[in-house]
Amino acid sequence: MQSYGNFIGGEWRAASEIRPNLNPSDLNDRIGDYAESGTAEVALAAEAAAAAQPRWQATGIQTRADILDKIADEMFRRTDEIGRMVSREEGKTLAEGIGEAHRSAQIFRFFAGEAMRNMGETAASVRPDLAVEVTREPLGTVGLITPWNFQLGIPAWKIAPALAYGNCVVLKPSELTPGSACMLADIIARSGLPEGVFNLVMGSGATVGQALVDHPLIDGISFTGSVATGERIAASAVRRMARFQLEMGGKNPLVVLDDADLKIAVDCAAAAYTVSGQRCTSSTRIIVTSGIHDRFVAALAERVAAIKVGHAFDPETEMGPVVDEVQLQKDLRYIELGKSEGGRLVVGGELLDRPHRGHYLSPALFAETTNTMRINREEIFGPVTAVIRAGDYEEALALANDTTYGLSAGICTGSLKHARHFVRHAQAGMVMVNAPTGGADYHVPFGGRKRSSYGPREQGTYARDFYTCVKTAYIRP
Ligand code: NDP
Repeated sequence: MQSYGNFIGGEWRAASEIRPNLNPSDLNDRIGDYAESGTAEVALAAEAAAAAQPRWQATGIQTRADILDKIADEMFRRTDEIGRMVSREEGKTLAEGIGEAHRSAQIFRFFAGEAMRNMGETAASVRPDLAVEVTREPLGTVGLITPWNFQLGIPAWKIAPALAYGNCVVLKPSELTPGSACMLADIIARSGLPEGVFNLVMGSGATVGQALVDHPLIDGISFTGSVATGERIAASAVRRMARFQLEMGGKNPLVVLDDADLKIAVDCAAAAYTVSGQRCTSSTRIIVTSGIHDRFVAALAERVAAIKVGHAFDPETEMGPVVDEVQLQKDLRYIELGKSEGGRLVVGGELLDRPHRGHYLSPALFAETTNTMRINREEIFGPVTAVIRAGDYEEALALANDTTYGLSAGICTGSLKHARHFVRHAQAGMVMVNAPTGGADYHVPFGGRKRSSYGPREQGTYARDFYTCVKTAYIRP
């Protein structure tokens, strides 16, 4: 069995402790053994990043852009192979895995361009003999902590802007999905980056993640994951005044009004089961007004029942397994809870036998639920959605906003008036009209409100706000 170590200071270092990486579609398929590191490896990586920071910061924008372009080139060339690893270790379908690999390449290409566009501003001073210059400098060394569900895309959208704006990186991927991070690190290692600019340390969040957050040589932490972990990271980072950015969970509402196009509404709702529902932007609360409610539930139930669940590599598969046994048990607990709270399980929610031993669950749809039930208040992060009935648009909007989360919100309607009103009044960072709540472009800001996000937005030009420090200079000629 091949064993993969960490990438620190420009070299791969053999792991002393390892953890097996299993394919959730086929638990007999052991993908490899990956480093289970400790605090010593984090310290080495932080020191390597800090030592490389002055040189990388001084490296010209053309060189930075060229290196990011080179990473993008190789990723585009190897999209199928990389996508296969993404699907193999996470369980998303091959189409989803390849799509993620392609998107990650696009992100590196985009930030190659952004490295060249890091413009400043000039202003007149209120003092006549001075000129004012506002420029952006790199934040410094950044620790990037990422989850398992978009295990390539999320590292890509953190690493690319970090490098573009002159920061050195230590990446700590989820220990459930280290394979994609290793492939990405291997590509980055051959891109011509000076040693120490990019480092990869694998291991558990409690040990490696926490040590990264606490390390005094790490200037900033960009985190994506659950609210509980985000809160812990925030408290630790504040203690030493390190900059931090948190992208966390969601309980995203999709409002379906009486005048919605039924097919569009069902398409949008069914999109909640992509990546086996393990997306922070999935529509897990579907709020439907009375006039269309019964037709909508019947049509969605038919669609959900037809979703083909199977091995991620099977071309017939429309939904792969869930990521691991812990997540599977969590999904099952919430399905039982939904029933005991009085929700009607319309379809799915059962363990499935497949030729390969894996974490197979049929997609579950609840109806007749209320917004006070725990299945509608807590993030499940699996293939489970619930329909809530609303009397009219005003009630639907109030229900949509009645949540501690605020990542994405959607509405399906033929009414421009209601669509515009919803865009203005939905308490979410991203709002979709006649489109699924999941699925975002990479050149525009991504992020939420309330307990879904903290700090500057990620992606697009807005990524610069986290990865740079603003400097205002007053100059007497
Ligand atoms: P977790 O919060 O469990 O883990 C996220 C990362 O944090 C992992 O690498 C984990 O390590 C690490 N970690 C855990 N504890 C600590 C700690 N004390 N200090 C530092 N790092 C730590 O989330 P999941 O991986 O389970 O991902 C699912 C969550 O991610 C969902 O809530 C989902 O909504 C959210 N998410 C949000 C997105 C967004 O952009 N808003 C996008 C995608 C997902 P390890 O697990 O390896 O031990």
